[in-house]
Order: sequence, then C-alpha cells, then structure tokens
Amino acid sequence: MYTKIRNRDLKVFEDIVGAAHVHVGAAIDADLAHDELGTVAAQPEVHLVVTDKHQIEAIMTHCNQEKIPVTVRGSGTGLVGACVPIHGGVLLDMSKLNKIIELDPLNMTLRVEPGVLLMDIAEYVEKQGFLYAPDPGEKSATIGGNIATNAGGMRAVKYGVTRDWVRGLEVVLPSGERIVTGGKVVKNSTGYAIKDLIIGSEGTLGIIVEATLKLIPLPNKSVSLLVPFDSREQAIDAVPKIIANHALPTAVEFLEKDSLAFSEEFLGKQIPHADYPAYLLLSYDGNSDQQMEDDVNAISSFCIDELGAIDVYLVDTDERKQSVWSARGAFLEAIKSSTTEIDECDVVLPRVHINEFLKFTKNLSRELGVRIPYFGHAGDGNLHIYFCRDELSEQKWQKALEIGFDKMYDKAFELGGLVSGEHGIGYAKKAYMERQVGPAQMTLMRGIKQVFDPNNILNPGKILS
Ligand SMILES: Cc1cc2nc3c(=O)[nH]c(=O)nc-3n(C[C@H](O)[C@H](O)[C@H](O)COP(=O)(O)OP(=O)(O)OC[C@H]3O[C@@H](n4cnc5c(N)ncnc54)[C@H](O)[C@@H]3O)c2cc1C
Repeated sequence: MYTKIRNRDLKVFEDIVGAAHVHVGAAIDADLAHDELGTVAAQPEVHLVVTDKHQIEAIMTHCNQEKIPVTVRGSGTGLVGACVPIHGGVLLDMSKLNKIIELDPLNMTLRVEPGVLLMDIAEYVEKQGFLYAPDPGEKSATIGGNIATNAGGMRAVKYGVTRDWVRGLEVVLPSGERIVTGGKVVKNSTGYAIKDLIIGSEGTLGIIVEATLKLIPLPNKSVSLLVPFDSREQAIDAVPKIIANHALPTAVEFLEKDSLAFSEEFLGKQIPHADYPAYLLLSYDGNSDQQMEDDVNAISSFCIDELGAIDVYLVDTDERKQSVWSARGAFLEAIKSSTTEIDECDVVLPRVHINEFLKFTKNLSRELGVRIPYFGHAGDGNLHIYFCRDELSEQKWQKALEIGFDKMYDKAFELGGLVSGEHGIGYAKKAYMERQVGPAQMTLMRGIKQVFDPNNILNPGKILS
C-alpha cells in the first residue's frame, strides 16, 4: 500500500534537511517508537528533524508523490499512541522548529513555531504581563501537539481549552501546499472553519508550522482552597453548585484519599491536612486583594454552610501551593509507577453524572479483579481512569481491558458522555469513537480526510481506521 523508504528517498531527505538530521536504523532513538501510553509502538523507517517550514513543504511534496507515510511528532507526551508511526515511513520531528516569533502586545497575540514547549510559552508571556491560559498537565508538550490534540487541562473551567486560544494557523497540507487560516483577528466568519478542523485533528489533516495564539492580561493574584468533605459523593455533588456560585473558579479538581496515597508514596510527602476522605481543590484568580478576599470569604461560607464541607483551608503560600498542586500533578506518574502497565479511559461526562460513573467504575474494578484508580477534572467532567495490570497474565489483562473498556464506554455514552475530553483518539480509542458517533458522522470524517489527504499518507491509521 505504501512505498518503503529507498536510498533515493534518503538522498532527497538529506538534500532537504541535511544529512545530520536524517536518522535510520539503529541511529533512531528507541523512545521515538512510542508515546507516553507505551502500549502502541512502531519503529519509523526514517527520523527527520526539521528546522524550517519550507523543509516540511518539500518533504510532503516528495512523500505525497511517492506515497510514503508521514507521522508528525512533537514531544511524544500523548496518551493514545497518536504520534506512533504504525505504518513506518517518515517520523517528522518538530522539536527543533521551536522559535517564538512575535509577541504583539496591542493585538495581544503570540506567534510561535510548533515545537515551542508549553512551559516556555508560559514563562515568556508571563514575564511580559500576559497569560496564555490553557494549562495541560504535561508542560514539556509542544504547542503543536497541544493544538493537534486540542489539549485541555485544569484551567478549562474558566478559560476553555486550546481551541479557544488559537487565532490563526499556518499549515502544510499532505500535498506540500501551505495555507494560512485565521490570523490575529478576534472574529472570523470567513467560510468553513478550516482552522478548527485542524485543531484536534491529531496530525491527520495537515502539519501545523506556525500558530497565532490569543493572550490576555495576566491576572496578578491567585489563591487555591483545599476543601475537605466526608465523602467523594458529597465533594462531587458540590461542584456544579460551586461553579454556579458568583465567582467562577479557574480550576476544580477532585482528590480522593486513595489516589492521594499514590502521590504521597511517589513524592514521599503528604499534602497539608491529609486526613480526610475526599477534597475539592479550587483555585481562583483576579486582580486585587480585596476581590480575592471577597471571593474566598463568599465561597468558604457557601461550602461550609450550604454544601456540607468540613472546613476550607487556604492554600496561599508558595510552599503550600507547591505541596498541594504537585500532589495533584503527580497522579498519572504516581499511578504508572505503582504497576507494571496501564491503559487509560479519558471520558468526559456532563458534570452531574460524575458520581454515578465513578460508582460504576468501582463496581467494575471489583467485578474484573483489576485495580482501576482514577482522578479527574471535576469542574469540566473529564475523568482519567487507569486500568493497572499489576501481576495479571497477558491473556487476563487483554480480557479485562476488552470487557472493562466496553462497559465503561457504554456507560459513559448512556450518561451523555464522550470518548475523549482531552487526550484525543489516536490509535487506541478508534473503535470506541466509531461506536459513539455512528455511521453518518464517520462518513463525514472519512470524507474530510479524503479531501485533505487523498493518498492517506499523513498519520494513517489514526482517528479513522
Ligand atoms: C503526565 C502527563 C499529563 C498530561 N496532562 C494532560 C492534560 O492535562 N491535558 C491534555 O490535554 N493532555 C495531557 N497530557 C497528554 C499530552 O501531553 C497532550 O496530548 C499533548 O498535547 C501532546 O503534545 P506533544 O507535543 O507531546 O505531542 P505528541 O504526543 O508528539 O503528538 C500528539 C499528536 O499531535 C500530532 N502533532 C504534534 N505536533 C504536530 C504539528 N506540529 N502538526 C500537526 N500535528 C502534530 C501528532 O502527530 C500526534 O497525533 C498529559 C500527558 C502526560 C504524560
């Protein structure tokens, strides 16, 4: 179906990117065969490191003519196998296409190349008094990867997800042509929303070679509150009421004693006030001490007087913030390090159904005899649920995944949920998406892919079979 890489292709690539940026065989780092999910793995035939967008145009023109598959890789922190070159071919490494091009303070936009890391964007704009608000947990991800997966993160409750912060994109199509969609403009009703199709398309429709991001003035105050409850149910039931209260939190995270235990073991320390069964971790931002104080007082009284919270602890010093947020941030790594292998279910549900879904998950864990820890963004209904293999044999593990995932996705769909809230579909979630969206939407999606990429060379086998 696809052309295997030949010496003459390598010569073309060397002419485009320089011999030092073309790696084959044993010279390809083994880590490039997988992402952070780990269970989907495949070796590329050639690893190309690109340093400018014109190289990408030339590479795509050649690969399209020769029917060579191309898979784009940012930092490889994805969790659905999306950047794994399952058909071999070219792995296009964007990590060196990483310049911050321009901060425009009057239009409040930032132009970047796709390989810039999220942590570098945050630091750069904050030094100049601006905020780029999307805040996915993995700060070493590239902005190109964030855009391609429409990454979410903890601040989605107040500020939305990556899609809400992308004003414009420059994209190289599978044919090698380069297009610009959107720009520095605030509004855009110019034809079909091509920019929004590219966002979240997981490198299957085009290669993002430049992005124009929206900025806002940096709120100069922030505070977090740790709110303990007697039970998980009580904590989660409180969330919609807190969000409907007058001050919109930037984040509403849910912590339960069991999942905190993983972080405590992993980090070797406890959060302050660690003795309660369940917590909400709320954060607020603003611009004056008075406003923050008013918000904190109002929300604290509301939590204690009306929602049954046991207490409200202010997380205001750098040390307390670091202790509590690092425990929350370490959940995934902590769960991973507690077992031999994980697989994840990243469903998003209407907020009011989180409790029902978690109860279902606990029962399923007992029924299957598999440990299934979880955590989640209680404020936006996005749960991260991990099947842990522990000492299960390959056969039992595969069976547990098959039965367990089937049941969990069916339950999520019954409750109005979706397959993925932020990690995407990639390779690992294709079957569940197809089941959820049904034949009419699958036909639309296949048609879109066909128009962008008639030879099916760009990240083939992802999102769609
Ligand atoms: C500890 C941890 C915490 C995480 N927390 C979050 C979270 O809170 N929210 C969240 O959404 N995700 C989270 N993730 C998942 C991951 O960080 C995101 O999916 C991220 O957006 C991937 O970026 P990347 O640069 O690593 O992309 P990769 O993993 O390299 O690639 C992901 C996809 O993007 C495509 N792609 C990459 N660059 C481009 C480009 N320039 N043009 C076109 N396509 C491209 C790839 O082909 C692939 O399909 C987390 C991961 C880890 C390990």
